[in-house]
Amino acid sequence: SEEDGQSRGYLFKIVLIGDSAVGKSNLLARFARDEFYTNSKSTIGVEFQTQKMEIDGKEVKAQIWDTAGQERFKAVTSAYYRGAVGALVVYDISRSQTFDSIGRWLNELHTYSDMNVVTILVGNKTDLKDAREVSTEDGKALAEAHGLFFMETSALDNSNVTAAFQTIVKEIYDILS
Ligand code: GDP
Ligand code: MG
Repeated sequence: SEEDGQSRGYLFKIVLIGDSAVGKSNLLARFARDEFYTNSKSTIGVEFQTQKMEIDGKEVKAQIWDTAGQERFKAVTSAYYRGAVGALVVYDISRSQTFDSIGRWLNELHTYSDMNVVTILVGNKTDLKDAREVSTEDGKALAEAHGLFFMETSALDNSNVTAAFQTIVKEIYDILS
């Protein structure tokens, strides 16, 4: 009911994962603050950002966690995943090695969080058309194979960024409400 929803407050923890420099921090900066940083160093330090959203006329808060650079050491801590109900698993369409890492990130996600965590595969940097190494078809196929949502985005030109976060928050809302 509406009252239940308000008392629970619908706060959804969502984690960003994926290799270093795929654009996780900039997806969050674009979504939450409509900002973009050309230098990735400027994104270190943010732990999470809480963003109010409206789903079916109800206020929902998405608490979106950023790795703050710890993925450079190849893994993030279990605390990062604890309580997550959603995940954006991000690769860079211009670097196929970041796409090859997706399986490893999914394994880590499923090791440390609930199997039912709502997950979207995100191919970022679509603005880098001439440098594309991962086709849209390959992204879609991998998402389908793992039962994930899929979207291609650009944090630089603000393409599909809100849509990616909306898709995941809407799905979580539909499951939990
Ligand atoms: P993170 O390590 O995954 O958090 O990646 P960052 O958000 O720090 O971004 C790494 C680098 O990629 C930075 O130089 C960003 O400016 C750049 N970047 C992020 N998103 C995009 C994008 O959509 N397009 C382009 N061309 N560059 C991007
Ligand atoms: Mg980052």
